[in-house]
Amino acid sequence: MKVTKFGGSSVSNAEQIKKVLNIVNADPERKIVIVSAPGKRTSDDTKTTDLLIRLYEKVIEGLDYRPKQEEIIQRYADIVYALEMDDAMLTTFDHTLTQYIVNLKSKPSRLLDALLSCGEDFNAQLIAAYNNSQGIPTRYISPGEAGIVVSDLPQNAQILDQAYENLYQLRDYKEKLIIPGFFGISRQNFVVTFPRGGSDITGAIVARGVRANIYENFTDVSGIYRAHPGIVKQPQVIDEITYREMRELSYAGFGVFHDEALQPLHKDRIPVVIKNTNRPDDLGTFIRHDREINTNNVVSGISCDTGFTVINIKKYLMNRQVGFTRKVLGVLEDYDISFDHMPSGIDSISIIMRSKEIKNIEEQVLNDIRKHCDVDELGVEHDLAVLMVVGEGMHRIVGTASRITHALAEANINLKMMNQGASEISMMFGIDVNDAEKAVKATYEYCYNGKCLLT
Ligand code: ASP
Repeated sequence: MKVTKFGGSSVSNAEQIKKVLNIVNADPERKIVIVSAPGKRTSDDTKTTDLLIRLYEKVIEGLDYRPKQEEIIQRYADIVYALEMDDAMLTTFDHTLTQYIVNLKSKPSRLLDALLSCGEDFNAQLIAAYNNSQGIPTRYISPGEAGIVVSDLPQNAQILDQAYENLYQLRDYKEKLIIPGFFGISRQNFVVTFPRGGSDITGAIVARGVRANIYENFTDVSGIYRAHPGIVKQPQVIDEITYREMRELSYAGFGVFHDEALQPLHKDRIPVVIKNTNRPDDLGTFIRHDREINTNNVVSGISCDTGFTVINIKKYLMNRQVGFTRKVLGVLEDYDISFDHMPSGIDSISIIMRSKEIKNIEEQVLNDIRKHCDVDELGVEHDLAVLMVVGEGMHRIVGTASRITHALAEANINLKMMNQGASEISMMFGIDVNDAEKAVKATYEYCYNGKCLLT
């Protein structure tokens, strides 16, 4: 059995929905389908989910929200009319939005989740109804009916183990099932959404729950590129990548697949394939537990993310002081700051975090470190970019780091920091944000365009 998920651009209009259903109906194993909310139809369009956020803002600010609500309903009306469907469901959708607004106005975070969920929920109902009207037995299943029970933290749902047991019963249905992505129902009976892009997470949870053989994730690209196509011209598509590599690359900016979606799949080793709705015959990228390594794929991909801040600390004889790092990290914990990397020397440590973590509290954090940790020097640097070179092959191939640093040196890029974890699956380089694109290009050229064949 396959679980198949379609992203926002794949279900953004009638034409795309027809493509989706052709793909679904062509394969009897594609029985369980997860859909996103209608995404952008053109590059300057707005995603339905973003329209729902605007609607929420208008309600909360006490402004006239009705035009926004009409704009949202119009998105579905465009699809309903183009598919020549009965428009009665549009009245139901409008009524659902109104009910949520009236009932949850005094509970803003609940209202936000409820409104957000409508993007996928309406789309799933519509797509199921249309496929049925075409003579293919199809059923809409809400996350509540499917048993997707989640924790009760608004916009940050976590799946509860009970959900996996509940989902197994979906195997018994004879019809094709269409389930909206992006949200579950808490034990307190509230709609709770996953983080943005969370339909991938629903797909992964359902795939694990029904013990699918594969989780197919359809989007608008034919797989995952080895580097961002906006930086490298026509980068190669990755044919296979491991869960661990994918996690590292998504962390540093690869947006094709949600990193939280890997967790449910990882445990039962359910493979994922990222495919293109517009070119369904392209092979796509497989994400699995293991992959074949050869001289051309030592490095799986290269990504570079910006928006990091680093705290640099120097302390003479730091390596002999027991508990020094704990005290520093204790300060971060007091301010609820999560950090990402901590390269260290014998007398220095650098703590790298997303800038948003420390924004507005930087002075207090530095003062507390001074107060509690008796440092010799303390400094902070903004505008750091993090270059990640990721590949399972690196632990077997001697000299990868040397070759990559050589490429960066040739491009005249100053490496402020370097880090390689014990797993040797990725190398992290802290660089100036202005060097970010140059670094990706230089490393890519070196790894894949023959400038350096890793042998
Ligand atoms: N519609 C939601 C979003 O735009 C979830 C998703 O599409 O995966 O974030």
